[in-house]
Amino acid sequence: MSTNDPSPSFTPPRPLRRIGIYCASNEGARPVYVDAARRVGALVARRGLGIVYGGGRTGLMGAVADAALEAGGEVIGVMPHGLVEREVAHTGLTALRVVDSMHERKAMMAELADAFLVLPGGIGTFEEFFETWSWAQLGVHRKPIGLLDVEAFWHPLQALLDQVEQEGFLRGTPRYWLQQHHDPEALLSLLETFEAPVARRWLRLGET
Ligand code: AMP
Repeated sequence: MSTNDPSPSFTPPRPLRRIGIYCASNEGARPVYVDAARRVGALVARRGLGIVYGGGRTGLMGAVADAALEAGGEVIGVMPHGLVEREVAHTGLTALRVVDSMHERKAMMAELADAFLVLPGGIGTFEEFFETWSWAQLGVHRKPIGLLDVEAFWHPLQALLDQVEQEGFLRGTPRYWLQQHHDPEALLSLLETFEAPVARRWLRLGET
């Protein structure tokens, strides 16, 4: 991954126990997205890792959760009060944490997860992804973010980031935090072996 910093230092990989998953609350236009979400859920569970996600029963969120639960995995949902009805909370989870705000949702997910996986999604998925990534830049956490590249979904984003970098708005190590692969198994391995760039801690989670 390209970066403007020629010589960052890195810390050794840290063991993963739980993966935070961001993805769409609907199923997308083609079945390939639900298939990928189910593969991810089952794979994470089979690797003995837990999942923390937004807690919904619909779309790719529901598909990840259902597949992980069917494979015997731990699935924790985190949802604000106001969305329990609107987003149709999943009632079969290992635990559903109901919180007061969207911010608390993201903060709790970031705390419970050791790494993040981002599947295709819409505005909500992008919001969660960018905030989590910006927290890495600020040193709030040191956890990798994996973009699952279903149907080359993230290629336009990487092209945009290339442009942002070329134009001088993205400097240093932020892109190191992003791992990307079309194969969920390979992507999980990248997260497991991730060596975090050493970064100054500008903020703590409670200060976001
Ligand atoms: P979408 O990708 O738009 O289908 O949304 C996926 C998930 O992101 C849904 O559970 C949304 O509630 C969630 N979401 C949307 N906006 C936010 C936000 N500001 N903070 C946390 N989660 C959000």
